[in-house]
Amino acid sequence: MTSEQIRDWLRRFADTIAEHRTELVRLDTAIGDGDHGTNMDRGMRKAMEKLDGSEPGDIGADLKAAGMALVSSVGGAAGPLYGTLFLQMGTAAAGKDELDLDGWAAAVEAGVKGVQARGKAEPGDKTMIDALLPALDALREGGELGEALRRSADAAEEGMKATIPLEARKGRASYLGPRSVGHQDPGATSSYYLLRCAAEILS
Ligand code: ADP
Ligand code: MG
Repeated sequence: MTSEQIRDWLRRFADTIAEHRTELVRLDTAIGDGDHGTNMDRGMRKAMEKLDGSEPGDIGADLKAAGMALVSSVGGAAGPLYGTLFLQMGTAAAGKDELDLDGWAAAVEAGVKGVQARGKAEPGDKTMIDALLPALDALREGGELGEALRRSADAAEEGMKATIPLEARKGRASYLGPRSVGHQDPGATSSYYLLRCAAEILS
């Protein structure tokens, strides 16, 4: 993946979030405060504004710029968590103008570890981690880049759907206890879009 493709990925994610804003708001209204779609849309718009003012080349610098934009423009849980994801991916990709599958997997791993260090969520807590971790595991299986990205997007989708029967143990949804059962987690849904966009830009 070139630095241009990484930017295409971020832009596609921003566009996908904008397209699905109402859906993400609806999911967060069921088990939270209904702001996930607007939070992520605002944050990704800011991130793209920042990138539009600079030349591509350093993948690490672009990811860090996107992460900083999210951290500084979005309150709530997911803004800082997505900010951390991009910031840590950026640190892992510092100075690189290209990523192969190993480089991409290493960046995603650093990002997911950052989200877990910050949010303390474990698999099964009904959070974005339930989409991100299976996606990372799928990437580690190796193979051809495009195929591995599709496999990781499929794993994220399964992880997202698997949040429906779970009871939330982290974030606002956990205040609902058993009433959070039967709803798909909004953060796992946006994380699925993140991985699906990665698969789409290469196919
Ligand atoms: P808030 O909950 O502050 O309103 P958002 O609505 O933007 O923030 O995001 C909610 C999403 O954040 C949840 O669906 C969940 O996936 C994710 N989330 C919340 N807390 C955590 C956590 N501690 N670790 C990982 N993800 C979390
Ligand atoms: Mg919310």
